[in-house]
Amino acid sequence: MTANKDIATLSRTMDILKRHNFQLKKNLGQNFLVDLNILHKILEAAKVSKQTQVIEIGPGIGALTEQLARRAKKVLAIEIDANLIPILNKTLAGYENIRIVEADAVKADLKALIHETFNLSEEIILVANLPYYITTPLLMKLMTEKLPIQRFCVMVQKEVAERITGRPGTKEYNALTILIQYFTMPRLAFVVPKSVFIPKPEVESAVLVFERRTEPLVEVRDEAFFFQVVKGSFIQRRKTLFNNLKQSLKGLVSTEDIQKGLEEAGIRSSLRGEQLTIEDFAKLSNQLLIYKKKE
Ligand code: SAM
Repeated sequence: MTANKDIATLSRTMDILKRHNFQLKKNLGQNFLVDLNILHKILEAAKVSKQTQVIEIGPGIGALTEQLARRAKKVLAIEIDANLIPILNKTLAGYENIRIVEADAVKADLKALIHETFNLSEEIILVANLPYYITTPLLMKLMTEKLPIQRFCVMVQKEVAERITGRPGTKEYNALTILIQYFTMPRLAFVVPKSVFIPKPEVESAVLVFERRTEPLVEVRDEAFFFQVVKGSFIQRRKTLFNNLKQSLKGLVSTEDIQKGLEEAGIRSSLRGEQLTIEDFAKLSNQLLIYKKKE
């Protein structure tokens, strides 16, 4: 029985990989954590307790999953790589509070999985050492699908963490920043060096924690349209807001009405998306909505 022997050490991880003859897949972002200290810091930052139910995206060989299972009430681990499922079944065999699901987290029906696995009246959080290639689509999905998740604690590339916590006027600030700040209050908990992974990634990582707001940060009349305006304002960073909106709202709002909407919202059309606050975007999308053609 291996239930009490930590997976996240270099020797145990190497041993598991070798014993199963497992070849790490770079295209799936398989950089496994081999540092217990970092795992404990993640658990602290995520505020995992015996009442917490946790979704983990990408358990790998179970390094983080195991630590979560020891501290939390229940863990739902979603892994895309079919070759990892038998390994996980073995490494996590001693834990009865883990459900392992083979699925692509970006495409999966997370709402259904959450409803099947957890008690919805108790706390549900998401904790993950995210494969970098899915960071943006997964976070967009987690934000917009209105899942009953109260807190997110994710490890991402340091540069993405800076983006998500970015302020208007900085080069980091983009559509993802706005979407996440609209729904949650993100903060960078700590930076993670490359040396704690097998294999070492090319860049540093950081752990972000974001709590869901009880109410979105600003009032928008049509959320889907607000997201469309935000995303459309950043399609080409070097272009002005007006030119980006002209292109992204083609067929929905006429060029004249975009100009009118900008004026009425008190926003200069020569500005760039990164110069607008979330409040500006709310005002602008509410104004443009008046002119939006019925689909
Ligand atoms: N949690 C482990 C750890 O911290 O050592 C592994 C983290 S590793 C950075 C990312 C994991 O996500 C890998 O196991 C990879 O196979 C898995 N993965 C990649 N794309 C995925 C997807 N679309 N859905 C679910 N899991 C995915």
